[in-house]
Amino acid sequence: MGKATGFLDYSRVTPSEDGALERIEHWNEFAEKMDGEHLRQQAARCMDCGTPYCHAGRILSGMAAGCPLNNLIPEWNDLVFRGDWRNALDRLHKRNNFPEFTGRVCPAPCEGSCTGGLIGSPVTIKSLEKSIVDRGFEEGWIVPEPPLRRTGRKVAVIGSGPAGLACAAQLNKAGHTVTVYERADRIGGLLTYGIPNMKLEKKTVQRRVDLLEAEGIVFVTNTEVGRDIPVWQVRAHHDAIVLAGGATAARELTIEGRGLDGIHQAMDYLTASTKKMLSDSGSYADSGEKRTNDDGPAKQATRRTLDLNNGATNRERYSAFTAKKELSAAGRDVVVIGGGDTGTDCVATALRQGCRSVVQLEIMPEPPSARPADNPWPEYPRVKKTDYGQREAEAVQGQDPRRYMTSAKRFLSETGESVCGVQTVRIEWRSGPDGRPMPYEVPGSEEVFPAQLVLLALGFTGPEQLLLQQLELESDARSNVHTGGHGREWASRGEAAAWRARGATSFGASSAEAGGAGRGVTRLPFGASSSPAGLGGPGSSDPVAFLYATSAEGIFAAGDMRRGQSLVAWAIREGREAAREVDRYLTGGTGLH
Ligand code: FAD
Repeated sequence: MGKATGFLDYSRVTPSEDGALERIEHWNEFAEKMDGEHLRQQAARCMDCGTPYCHAGRILSGMAAGCPLNNLIPEWNDLVFRGDWRNALDRLHKRNNFPEFTGRVCPAPCEGSCTGGLIGSPVTIKSLEKSIVDRGFEEGWIVPEPPLRRTGRKVAVIGSGPAGLACAAQLNKAGHTVTVYERADRIGGLLTYGIPNMKLEKKTVQRRVDLLEAEGIVFVTNTEVGRDIPVWQVRAHHDAIVLAGGATAARELTIEGRGLDGIHQAMDYLTASTKKMLSDSGSYADSGEKRTNDDGPAKQATRRTLDLNNGATNRERYSAFTAKKELSAAGRDVVVIGGGDTGTDCVATALRQGCRSVVQLEIMPEPPSARPADNPWPEYPRVKKTDYGQREAEAVQGQDPRRYMTSAKRFLSETGESVCGVQTVRIEWRSGPDGRPMPYEVPGSEEVFPAQLVLLALGFTGPEQLLLQQLELESDARSNVHTGGHGREWASRGEAAAWRARGATSFGASSAEAGGAGRGVTRLPFGASSSPAGLGGPGSSDPVAFLYATSAEGIFAAGDMRRGQSLVAWAIREGREAAREVDRYLTGGTGLH
């Protein structure tokens, strides 16, 4: 803490933003940069309190509070105050591989937990984080740092969202050879196709992907493991697999008229919008071809697999995209069903596409606008949040687009083909037979909203199941991949012993094919050069239990696929922690943090 009276001397100031009417004319980020002196003052507000809840990352009253990444917040705040930006960047990168993502999109539970919030307003941690990493890029301090040595171990990461990327970055740092498989045409998961460009510009994602490539990570796009390439084949070529496929199976709304044209899942709409935006800006090459940066002869087998699998599935996917390119709100009345963040992103996107009107339905009651006096502190405040999309809609339409305690009852059509409106009904929440609150329709409260485009943003039911079923993995009650405590049982099932018995035999594609072709999962040991150390190989005598291990040997899971839809910061944390376990599994120890 450089300035003992910083919190008294300076008020909280956040970066100013372009006006709502101005920014809906473009797709770019709209927060302005703060100058150095203002940032210094904001950093000086951090009092390095004895119990810095901001970086604690824990569960409180059932909710996550503090930074999931345990960012060293007081340390880098102090370094910014002292003008030592270079070291601030190093301290920031110590716990977070991608602060340029979290500095833009994280809802900042750190600020909700800042001690300063007790008596005033919290430190502007999020904008300081963004400023440090942006400066790092501007100054050229962030450069590829390939590992000094390679271990000879190979790991496949399935899914290239923040969890997969963080995991790959850490494993690569430890010297393992990492290949990331991604079914989309671009790397980034929801960072690319999900979070809209005005929240996180896609060039920011691409810049980090380029760095990871330069550090030696191999990216294979347009390849859905389990569909385009058999999972057993990936298994046979790698010593461990990390599943980081996200949790984007969308919740449905099965009411009358659901089959009409013009009703779409929010994720389809947001993805099509980003693809169109990238295509219009000339930075989207929609060739549909598999792309890999793998040029080394050691990866020829993988490349052959990819060539062999360059079949109909991808073409189908791309013709679907071509159709969806026309999926636009331009000139239409839009109803978004779902009042969460995904719904907000739909509202903001529809406004930028030039919709005629937009309404957002939310079945839950309107949250209080201020934290109740009896709310225990510190806690991330559960108060009404008027997010960027609602502010923009309010500026255009003169009122909040949200209708609380309102449910869609049926979709209407004049032609029998396309949707033309949504009939809604007001909801009352009363205790049901078991005493828990239940929604009841208010008789006579029906209303009709015109809509030629309806977007379903009702949340997600969990990960897509195809790959998980092929691997015969255990799921938890919410259909996420079950992990935790596995590892010992891998050994007791004899898989590690079988591994050792085979000694240095390498399971290349041919032996794996013999055992696995067409049968989905096979409990074959991995096709590596020696026994995994965590299961009794070199460097470790005892099998250990891993938190991120699935029920299948050598297969780990991280991010939304394991914990359900969450936040980018949690995904990065999970990717980092899973990487530590994989490193321990492969080498018997780890130097990763
Ligand atoms: P994802 O980001 O979902 O990535 C998984 C990737 O795996 C995908 O690219 C998918 O194509 C790929 N994949 C899946 N199966 C396979 C397979 N078999 N083979 C190959 N590839 C496969 N969080 C925030 O913190 N701030 C926000 O502002 C925010 N906004 C959001 C907006 C929207 C619309 C949504 C839906 C979510 C948002 N989130 C936000 C949540 C956040 O994006 C996720 O929690 C996070 O991206 C999860 O990371 P992940 O790596 O686990 O999975």
